Amino acid sequence: MDTHARTTIEIRPSEPLAVEFTSSWHYEGNTLIDEFSTVESIANWIVVYRDRLGMPPSGPLSVDHSDAERLVEAREAVRELLDSVVDASRPGVAALRLINKEAHRIHVATLAWTPNGPHLRWPPGTSTTDQLVAQVCASTVRVLGSPRRNLLRRCPAPRCVLFFSALRTGQMWCSQSCGNRARVARHSARSQ
Ligand SMILES: [Zn+2]
Repeated sequence: MDTHARTTIEIRPSEPLAVEFTSSWHYEGNTLIDEFSTVESIANWIVVYRDRLGMPPSGPLSVDHSDAERLVEAREAVRELLDSVVDASRPGVAALRLINKEAHRIHVATLAWTPNGPHLRWPPGTSTTDQLVAQVCASTVRVLGSPRRNLLRRCPAPRCVLFFSALRTGQMWCSQSCGNRARVARHSARSQ
């Protein structure tokens, strides 16, 4: 995969971090891209979301190969819970347990105030991935434990795997381009 330039990550500030985390697996044209497939692409994703993760604007990131597996596992668990809300079904016990266990870790973070402003401070030895997974799982708990879960949708457009929040009444697609693509697909299906 060679499309890991920062420009392929589309930031949606109005989406909860949990939803943005699942969007790290997304289509770019006809190709499914996994932003967590290499150490470089993981680091790039974290840099893009640094501010949302409560991290200071600069400073070292510690990411290695073992993190990729952990991030994909966390993303599958988050997706399973979001799928279950959208489909009005129940997630597996393992996914629910993973989210709760990781979300709990958020309680060891404190708010620090530096000349750059506030950011989260973690106990020594907390890896970048620990912070990321804790933040994402805590976001999942907050979203699913609140009425915000009722806004969650899975985009039904062809070649889209994204979740989104229906912030406008009747919103059916994650983006205008997905709506356009779905309309074109419907039109060509009708005219065949
Ligand atoms: Zn979409």
